[in-house]
Amino acid sequence: MFDKVLVANRGEIALRVIRACREMGVRTVAVYSEADAHAPHVREADEAILIGPAPSRESYLKGDAIIAAALRTGAQAIHPGYGFLSEREWFARAVRDAGLVFIGPPAEAIAAVGSKTAARSLAISAGTPVVPGTTSALRDADEAADVAAQFGYPVLLKAAAGGGGKGMRIVHRREELADALAAAKREAKSSFGDDAVYVEKYIVGPRHVEIQLLGDTHGTMLHLGERECSVQRRHQKMIEEAPSVAVTPELRARMGAAAVAAARAAGYVNAGTCEFLLDAGGDFYFLEMNTRIQVEHPVTELVTGVDLVQWQLRIAAGEALPFHQEDLDPSGWAMECRITSEDPANNFLPSTGRVQYLHVPSGPGIRWDGGIETGSEISLFYDPMLAKLIVWAPTRAAAIARMHRALLELTIEGVDTSRDFHLRVMEDAEFRSGDISIQWLERRLASLLSVQPPREAVLRAAIAAALLAERERSGPQRARRGAESSAVTSTTSPWLQAARLDAIQ
Ligand code: ADP
Repeated sequence: MFDKVLVANRGEIALRVIRACREMGVRTVAVYSEADAHAPHVREADEAILIGPAPSRESYLKGDAIIAAALRTGAQAIHPGYGFLSEREWFARAVRDAGLVFIGPPAEAIAAVGSKTAARSLAISAGTPVVPGTTSALRDADEAADVAAQFGYPVLLKAAAGGGGKGMRIVHRREELADALAAAKREAKSSFGDDAVYVEKYIVGPRHVEIQLLGDTHGTMLHLGERECSVQRRHQKMIEEAPSVAVTPELRARMGAAAVAAARAAGYVNAGTCEFLLDAGGDFYFLEMNTRIQVEHPVTELVTGVDLVQWQLRIAAGEALPFHQEDLDPSGWAMECRITSEDPANNFLPSTGRVQYLHVPSGPGIRWDGGIETGSEISLFYDPMLAKLIVWAPTRAAAIARMHRALLELTIEGVDTSRDFHLRVMEDAEFRSGDISIQWLERRLASLLSVQPPREAVLRAAIAAALLAERERSGPQRARRGAESSAVTSTTSPWLQAARLDAIQ
């Protein structure tokens, strides 16, 4: 195993990797931007190196500075986390060329599936079903129209280099194609520096179901079952769970085998994910392969008991996987809510500011993978994901109840967050029934957000009553002090937390 690993990331995933390393006795080097000088990942690592100013392109995307930091500190390997440099072929290659280990797949495998069109060709060659569409970039709108005529509208224009739902346009009619193609190309160029756009049939009503893979350097490639990530807004995941209500053991085996075949065709090693759309008839279509650890990896960890990040390190160090496919059946139910600094009531507008108070849920079955603490500054420089709240329970219904309970315990003061949105989803009858698709949230969002549930009203009344009682008890002097700081105390003091829970139970 390595003695020292450099973690080329920030926020919750940097902490996640640091924790994995610490449990394995591996020392860590954090890198950070000027904006992150006081960030938790900097403090938790054994060493930390400043690499540049706040903007990512001057810090977390500076591959040369990061490699130099690894060499200077004597780290033997670099873990890229997700986002930033994690799926850049040139970075994986540069790390290797510097005599270091890239904790991820070989640069060649990243290249083989890095563009969605290349990945589609590869999946087809491996016999994995793909969404109908092209496997090369479109020349013009006429070509797109010819393809669309074969399988009918709506179609989806997608950036070959795409990610994060960017560079996508749904087209319902021939007349809309030219403008949509121009817009998708512009967005692809500005987001990814590559304006290649291709076309797929737009599938209505499927689920997003993805398969987690682990492959070692000794020829073993296993799948760890599925994650369902259908709760999406603007093609971005918000809630993930494992397993999926729509996947039987037989379907899991078929999807797993298809994912393993695609990964083998790519020469894949380490942790990766094959994403699929699954329709109501049980047919599934390959979307893309992600060549890194995913945001939603904890739900797989909780149902399989496999620490994916530790295995990323072990595989990179040459260890062989000791499991067999039949050891990896999921047990119980896990669910994850992405806690972002966005205001659901205001069209998910990003919110900035200082975290004035943070109370993290705890108790049975709760996992908090967070990158913030009281005092953290939330800026617009980085992704709005502050933390992931993850729960495990024996059944889906119990996991939902547990997530609801945990969300009620969660208090973040100082920035708007997605907490209340997640509460509304956990209370929603359709979500609870499991009858959802990737279009579910867009359809349901307005009514979800307009709900002022009676429980919340009861809660507010209980908090107000408790606050009043406390003021009366503490007399005029303390009451005045209480009033001065009421902006913070009204929802954050521990006894008010307790009042919240009493009101709900
Ligand atoms: P990105 O890499 O930008 O995240 P993906 O190809 O992974 O793009 O797609 C993101 C999401 O967009 C999917 O989870 C799905 O909800 C939706 N999507 C992608 N392709 C299609 C399609 N052909 N039909 C319907 N929805 C799609």
